[in-house]
Amino acid sequence: MTQLYAADHVLPVGAEPVRRGAVAVADGAIAMVGPLDAVRAAHPEADVEDLGRAVLMPALVNAHTHLEYAGYGGFGDGLPFAAWLADHIARRPRLVPGDVEAQAALGALLCLQAGVGTIGDASYAGASLAAATAAGLRGTVHLEAFGGPDADPAAVADALAERLDALEPAARGLVGLGVSPHSPYSVAPAVFAALVGLARARGVTAMAHVAESAAELEAVRDGSGPIADALAALTRIEATGRHPVDLLADRGLIGPGLILVHAVHVDDAQAAAIGASGAAVVHCPRSNALLGCGIAPVPALRAAGAPVAIGTDSPASAGDFDIWAELRAAVQGARAREGRADALTAGDAIRMATLDGARALGLEGVVGALAPGLRADLVAVDLVGTPYAEAEDPAVAVVMAGAPERVLLTIVDGVVRYRRSADAERVAAALAAAEPGRRRMIGDTD
Ligand SMILES: [Zn+2]
Repeated sequence: MTQLYAADHVLPVGAEPVRRGAVAVADGAIAMVGPLDAVRAAHPEADVEDLGRAVLMPALVNAHTHLEYAGYGGFGDGLPFAAWLADHIARRPRLVPGDVEAQAALGALLCLQAGVGTIGDASYAGASLAAATAAGLRGTVHLEAFGGPDADPAAVADALAERLDALEPAARGLVGLGVSPHSPYSVAPAVFAALVGLARARGVTAMAHVAESAAELEAVRDGSGPIADALAALTRIEATGRHPVDLLADRGLIGPGLILVHAVHVDDAQAAAIGASGAAVVHCPRSNALLGCGIAPVPALRAAGAPVAIGTDSPASAGDFDIWAELRAAVQGARAREGRADALTAGDAIRMATLDGARALGLEGVVGALAPGLRADLVAVDLVGTPYAEAEDPAVAVVMAGAPERVLLTIVDGVVRYRRSADAERVAAALAAAEPGRRRMIGDTD
């Protein structure tokens, strides 16, 4: 059974845009991309859904999410990084069983609503796996692990391996499991090495928050400062005298399969080393801006050859899962930082959120573009009601005007997983289900 989707603009990524184009989908895969007339002539019996004044493109890859924090938006806004972290650690115990699951389910649906087909999640509780799978998303859920200098590295890795084993039967669909050594400040070097070793032994990706804040650099170098103070009740932090990137590189931990989230505070030499290593980077510009962390050197990292993906991080820092706002922030931040209007183009940003996101998550050749043989992950963005309804460049149009509210449908593996015209009640129900947990975190116990 072949289904055709047509739109005023087809934006394949990696190939030229097509005016009045269409995509043929059969058995969950892309069968053909081209002008509508040609695609229809090749599939005369297929149904055609015409999406009109819209851009049809690969579903986006949100390469760093925390679905379980879907209801955390705005908490601690304006606090310095360490105080913000402490605020979240203090609120989390107020949740009761069921709250995390409801938040993860909301997060998964909000990602689909934003036009995301693939996620790279970092998961504290493991609830993201069931939520993402149930929603029909694709991607990897990286289970977070922590362990200071007094922890036994093998014991931390073994405990995480047990958690992975327990969840493995639920990870046989489009969502797989990975490992997340949380960060160099919350995971001591030997523990970090054991966790990366576990990921490598299992052939899965490892995702860590690295070089995010100046406070992190101070904590890892000196074992002191605001993060050490904020985490004092949980762990001590060893003074290593090193920058987090150098510390991990010293131990041979930066390489293929490691996904460095943030990489804000890296110099040119570190960016070059990351690019040469085969490691991937996820850029989360709104989170970095709102927490006062800075702007990552995206052009340098991309020039060095690293796949630099885009992630919203969690609503705890970025406010929501709006990947379109993230794309705009990436473009704005790169141009502001470099003082050049061509520092990052709309097309570059889209590539980061599609092909490069797929590369970062090990899904190159599976998703990230519209091309025959790839899995059929698509999003259609409605341009009606925007100044871009008559679009000159569809990449510019979607980066400037894209928003969850403008997503007409999101298709993953050939299946429509979100449709704006049909899913308003579903979104409202997920928001309502997550609200009691949010109230508890605010401290409202009525
Ligand atoms: Zn994160």
